[in-house]
Amino acid sequence: MSRLAVNLQLNLQILMARVTALSRQVGRDVAILAVSKTQLAETVRAAWSAGQVRFAENYVQEALSKMTELADLPLEWHFIGPLQSNKTRAVAERFSWVQTVDREKIARRLAEARPATMPPLNVCVQVNISGEHTKSGVPPDEAEGLCRVVACLPKLRLRGLMVIGRPGLNLVAQRQQFRDMKVLFERINALGLAMDTLSMGMSEDMEAAIQEGATMVRVGTAIFGARPIKERQTETRL
Ligand SMILES: *Cc1c(COP(=O)(O)O)cnc(C)c1O
Repeated sequence: MSRLAVNLQLNLQILMARVTALSRQVGRDVAILAVSKTQLAETVRAAWSAGQVRFAENYVQEALSKMTELADLPLEWHFIGPLQSNKTRAVAERFSWVQTVDREKIARRLAEARPATMPPLNVCVQVNISGEHTKSGVPPDEAEGLCRVVACLPKLRLRGLMVIGRPGLNLVAQRQQFRDMKVLFERINALGLAMDTLSMGMSEDMEAAIQEGATMVRVGTAIFGARPIKERQTETRL
């Protein structure tokens, strides 16, 4: 096995053990989504060999070529990047999940483009809790309306809410924002929408997120190591 594959396997084992321990502590299952943006297809393949099945990508073109290279593996692909109208078809045709739906127009286009032969596309509505560090996501008071729209569209299955935590917070503040998300999630679910996914927590804040109600954490750096600087700058502009 290459050095890369050994490191990756170790990182994944450590992460899985951490998530399992936290998950026992809170009495809730927590899925690990491996964020493979900027990583090569062979790296994704190594992660799969180490037991990881769910992967997430931010950029459509990059994702499509990786999917083609890895078509022999039964991977579950999640789209977690900003979604433009002209990319909805490719996303609807190739992904199992989209976690970044933040406007009705995009939801409708995804529903229209999802092939009839495929199972419904799993959707999370992205919520913008901080209002500043990212332009993506609906404000919390508009989340309910968009969830209702998604739940009614054919070929879409509303699964839950997704949030990107504000960077640079201490543990107390991290927990507060995730607690607010959990409250919003419960409130919307009380309408009978049956959402089962609260996607929150990344390498830096996954412990706070799990303690406050996450059912899925999206982890890149803690599995694959630091990404190239250029990409990280792009990401903070998200
Ligand atoms: C890049 C990214 C992640 C993973 O971030 P890490 O800090 O590398 O764990 C999670 N969610 C989204 C939406 C991302 O863009």
